[in-house]
Amino acid sequence: MNILKTIKDIIAPKKCYSCKKEWHFLCPECLQKRQLHSEICYICKKPSKNFLLHYNCKKGTILEYFEKIIILAHYKDNYIAKLIKDSKYNHKKDILEDMAHYLSSHILHFDNLLPKEEYIIIAPPMYFLKKWKRGYNHSEILAKHIAEKLQIPYDFSLVKKIKYTRQQSHLTKEQREKNIISSFSLTKNANQKIQWKNIIIVDDVVSTWATIGEIARVLKKSWVKKIVALIIASD
Ligand SMILES: [Zn+2]
Ligand SMILES: [Zn+2]
Repeated sequence: MNILKTIKDIIAPKKCYSCKKEWHFLCPECLQKRQLHSEICYICKKPSKNFLLHYNCKKGTILEYFEKIIILAHYKDNYIAKLIKDSKYNHKKDILEDMAHYLSSHILHFDNLLPKEEYIIIAPPMYFLKKWKRGYNHSEILAKHIAEKLQIPYDFSLVKKIKYTRQQSHLTKEQREKNIISSFSLTKNANQKIQWKNIIIVDDVVSTWATIGEIARVLKKSWVKKIVALIIASD
């Protein structure tokens, strides 16, 4: 147990964003109400065992390189949206650890992820200047916590962002997708590290899938087995 962290928890205990109970940013009871429990295909929203995307649903779309997409909660949920927003500020980074705990249990509930040595966890890379400005890549922090909990190795050196992409929020869906194409590439030696592995891409929020879809496309050019997206919130 990290002593500094324990002291911090005693002086300023975490409070549930929803019910205000202490010790969690979102307590298990409040999460339970918001968690997306049913196993569906993310695209058609129809039942699909273990969240597998139907072949016909993903074929020819930006999601075609994914085997499954697992989402913890809906982004339109106000508390979830606020938690994610706050996790991007340095002093609230601990939120990511709580969310990692929930995401890990969520995926393990449906899949035992064995053998572990066949898996690698990654996070979408940030352009180096952006990471330098913020001081950290919050998706990497989330992914690291998840890797620890699942006891699966993580590697953030496999994919790099080679093109700076403009702020995306004011662009249309088509513009965003175009903007992101060719902005990622595999790094040297990544090829041999990812061959025959299953890759879990971890992120906090996904809306257009342009970024993660492009990363999956780049990965799939090597002999990657399965690609899974594990996300806190989406629509
Ligand atoms: Zn609560
Ligand atoms: Zn489907």
